[in-house]
Amino acid sequence: MRSHPDACPGAVELHQAADGGLARIRVPGGSLSAAQWDVVRLAALELGTGVLEFTSRANLQIRGLADGLELGARLRAAGLLPSATHERMRNIIAAPLESNQALVNALDAALCADPVLASLPGRFLVTVGASVSGLGGDFGLVDDVLLLAGTDTGVRVEDPVDALVTAARLFQEMRGSAWRLSEVDGGVRKITEHFGVADAPRITPVVTPVAPSPVTPGVPLGRLDARLLAGVPVRLTPWRSLVVPPGTDTTGLITDPASPWHGVSACTGRPGCAKSLSDVRADARAWLGTPHALPVHWSGCSRRCGRPQGDVIEFVATSDGYEEIR
Ligand code: SF4
Repeated sequence: MRSHPDACPGAVELHQAADGGLARIRVPGGSLSAAQWDVVRLAALELGTGVLEFTSRANLQIRGLADGLELGARLRAAGLLPSATHERMRNIIAAPLESNQALVNALDAALCADPVLASLPGRFLVTVGASVSGLGGDFGLVDDVLLLAGTDTGVRVEDPVDALVTAARLFQEMRGSAWRLSEVDGGVRKITEHFGVADAPRITPVVTPVAPSPVTPGVPLGRLDARLLAGVPVRLTPWRSLVVPPGTDTTGLITDPASPWHGVSACTGRPGCAKSLSDVRADARAWLGTPHALPVHWSGCSRRCGRPQGDVIEFVATSDGYEEIR
């Protein structure tokens, strides 16, 4: 059981990193209008380091901030900070190639409208759609199936919005100091009993990444020069890529699955993270071109932040070089 609250950063409550304030901007469902995207880009350029970091939960991070006040004001005006109280729990990953943003918006609004749910941890995660169902959500929706901690226990729902709020409330009531539903003793069973088993389990959660293409470009090492993609509506994916309109200028992005950048990720490392034993991004760049079958993730210490879900080859910095983990 956890003995301390989670310390996930928000857009206003920053994490103090070695390179300054770090803001994490939740984007439930990943969709940003062109105007909203430009607000975030310009904030990174004018208030931060000029780089937008893409997270494995399809959120964005800005580094090097003095404080979160100006950023918060800009995001609020753009409709990207609808609730001061529920900001850090607004983690909803949606299958990026499906038409589900309206459902995500309804789920987000309903979660934010319930004061009890303001205390959910920053690690709380909801997935919407089959292709992201294996990403480790506390709750997942795939059609009428409500997954609980990544398991189809036979719960079926008619009203997904109402069902998610009910399930989230049950989790909040029983979680104690746990951050995730999977950590609550008997949590999945109790929520299943509340809803009742309506069907035999039929969903096996999967992760189906979007391959890089001109309309689904990847972001090398998850770090985007914020001068790029000006004036373009985007949808963020949990694979550190975006969905953009056909004809978008994707210079500097990964559009070919054969690119050596494809499938390679890295944590922040030096100089941004004080815990890092190495400049992992520089080391990953130097390694680039080495053939690899699986995704590869580089970490500057044993915390292994940002490690993708599923099978992955990891290089973890130690005081004695890199340890390879498969
Ligand atoms: S894995 Fe370690 S070095 Fe990398 S960002 Fe996390 S804490 Fe920092």
